[in-house]
Amino acid sequence: MGCGCSKLKDGKAVVDHVKSKGKENFPPKVAHNLTCECGETFTLETVIMNCPKCEMTYAVTPCGSDSIENIKPAGIKYA
Ligand SMILES: [Zn+2]
Repeated sequence: MGCGCSKLKDGKAVVDHVKSKGKENFPPKVAHNLTCECGETFTLETVIMNCPKCEMTYAVTPCGSDSIENIKPAGIKYA
């Protein structure tokens, strides 16, 4: 990837990067179904989204959002 997103090493870095670009409300390329570590399953509708149950923040860059492996937890209510 040429945008530098691949250098982001954890979920917090992804949140900070995406927010710095003002893209936190963008839809991902694929609406992945995520299973949170709390056991809740939900659909990722924006590139930064909190689990509806435990409010763990999940984040992915728009350009990496076609792959579920790129979605990273950033911490409870990080976003
Ligand atoms: Zn959860």
